[in-house]
Amino acid sequence: MKSVKGKNQAAVHDDPSAAVASAFPAIFGPAVEAVQVSLFIQQDGIFRYVNPFLAQQFGYTVEELTGQRGLLDLLLAAADSFYLDTRNGVGAGVSTWEVMARRQDHSVFPARIVSAPLTFDGRAATVGVVLDLSAQREAEEKARELANFDALTGLPNRRLLLDRLQQQIAAAEREAMPFALLCLDLDNFKRINDSFGHRVGDELLCAVANRIGTAVRRIDTLARLGGDEFILVMPGASAAGATDLACRLIDACNKPFAVAGHDLTATPSVGITMYPQDGKGIGTLLRNADVAMYKAKEQGRNTFQFYTAEMNTATFERLMLEGSLRRAVRNAELELHYQPQISLANGCIVGVEALVRWRHPELGLIMPDRFIHVAEETGLINPIGDWVLGEACRQAKAWIAEGLPSLGMAVNVAPEQFRQGGFVATVAGALAGSGLDPERLELEVTERTLMHDAEAHIGTMTALHRMGVELSLDDFGTGYSSLAYLKRFPVGKLKIDRSFVNDLEHDPDDRAIASTIVNMGRSLRLAVLAEGVETCEQLALLRTMGCDLAQGFFFSQPLPAGQIIELLRRQPFLNKE
Ligand code: C2E
Ligand code: MG
Ligand code: MG
Repeated sequence: MKSVKGKNQAAVHDDPSAAVASAFPAIFGPAVEAVQVSLFIQQDGIFRYVNPFLAQQFGYTVEELTGQRGLLDLLLAAADSFYLDTRNGVGAGVSTWEVMARRQDHSVFPARIVSAPLTFDGRAATVGVVLDLSAQREAEEKARELANFDALTGLPNRRLLLDRLQQQIAAAEREAMPFALLCLDLDNFKRINDSFGHRVGDELLCAVANRIGTAVRRIDTLARLGGDEFILVMPGASAAGATDLACRLIDACNKPFAVAGHDLTATPSVGITMYPQDGKGIGTLLRNADVAMYKAKEQGRNTFQFYTAEMNTATFERLMLEGSLRRAVRNAELELHYQPQISLANGCIVGVEALVRWRHPELGLIMPDRFIHVAEETGLINPIGDWVLGEACRQAKAWIAEGLPSLGMAVNVAPEQFRQGGFVATVAGALAGSGLDPERLELEVTERTLMHDAEAHIGTMTALHRMGVELSLDDFGTGYSSLAYLKRFPVGKLKIDRSFVNDLEHDPDDRAIASTIVNMGRSLRLAVLAEGVETCEQLALLRTMGCDLAQGFFFSQPLPAGQIIELLRRQPFLNKE
């Protein structure tokens, strides 16, 4: 060790412990030697003392450092400020630096050096500690990752996405460059999760993330917002570029995913917004992409949709309808119109179908296609359906009381109503309340309602049938009917959907379908009614096929109860060709 002669002290510290003894009170000596913290004393840029832990931390022996090297030899060259401060012997107080330290084998680690001035051998010196920050930095990095990345897929999460979007918007504004934002949601992911369990669901999400990750460019950001919703930001992309990517994403997801021994299909629905025309703020862009994605789902899934301003109007309308639909029943805003059903054998009105309308105080008359699905999704279909049933039975009974020819009253029943435990009792209540003969009531259910859970519905149908109520299958031909069930269900009538009647004169396929349904009905001893008859030619064709009944604008639009009375009195369809 190099000897240093102090101003006030003649002694030369060849022995490190003598240096400790001179710098630290005697009782600290052994502790300073043993402690698991790196300590040093430096003077004139050279270590006068290092404890064994410091030497070990840097991969040297105590002797290789003491009197031989200084702190600067243990730091990366960039630590300039440290260099200056140490050269100048440090100011009055305690100083702290965070630097990259270098071991003897040239490996580096982040370190914090805390030093303070000290008089050593009668001259100015520095005493300090070196703390290894590797573990702390690792923990910080992990925390940063957890805060910014999705733990399951490793993709950026909502937080990082918002940050990147902010940067993207700033860059797009500066350079007047558009960008596309895509929102991708898996179709039926919930079903997969429910049937195979969350572990398989999680694996599928990772597989999807990987696959869409390979379809995007390096400059694009792919993030997972939670659940099965992914967001893609494409800087500089035009509508054509976004379309191209959406098609590639859909293609990529259309190949099955091999997950936990299953071949799973997870088709996506994609909504696209373009900056700046569809919105300039992050919130608006994300919301509009979401609206477009839901539109894609409505359009049959496994497809993409660009956002349009009308979509927002539709969303707004839906929210508004939902709000005011709640008070519609209470405020007696619903009314029924009735459409005649005509026997093709004699041209007489044999029944009517009750069709609900909503007289909205501000929007006027609203047709069921606009609000029935909202009612079904919100559960409001039950009070609405109950009201329709009660009112239709009351009206049918009132016509009989007025001495009009007796009619069948057909009432549409939504799937949700039919699935309810108390539905049979509700029907019995409506009949008892009005005094209508059960034989006069007919309930229309769609194929979809029945086939969805056929076994469960057989009980309900049988109970209604025993009560004397007739059942008909509405919109027949548009769903999937099992012929075996058709035989077992106590159904009395099939209603050929109007999509097959529409084009009957011109489309041979439609003619084949209609005539097949008529023949099948005859074989199964079911009456067949054609919906949506609008022309004399359609009527003639249906007659030659042997169809029993018809309903449509050719005979009459759905009418308020008062106008039905006039029609009945005149019976204008007798012998009408
Ligand atoms: P739906 O049961 O198939 O009723 C027939 C629909 O076809 C009615 O539409 C009717 O106005 C229309 N229509 C009848 N003839 C013709 C025609 O010649 N040409 C054309 N283009 N259309 C014709 P509406 O009244 O708008 O009802 C639509 C649907 O709303 C109904 O289809 C039914 O599914 C549902 N709906 C109506 N009222 C109720 C109800 O009280 N409860 C439930 N759950 N659903 C109802
Ligand atoms: Mg109907
Ligand atoms: Mg129908």
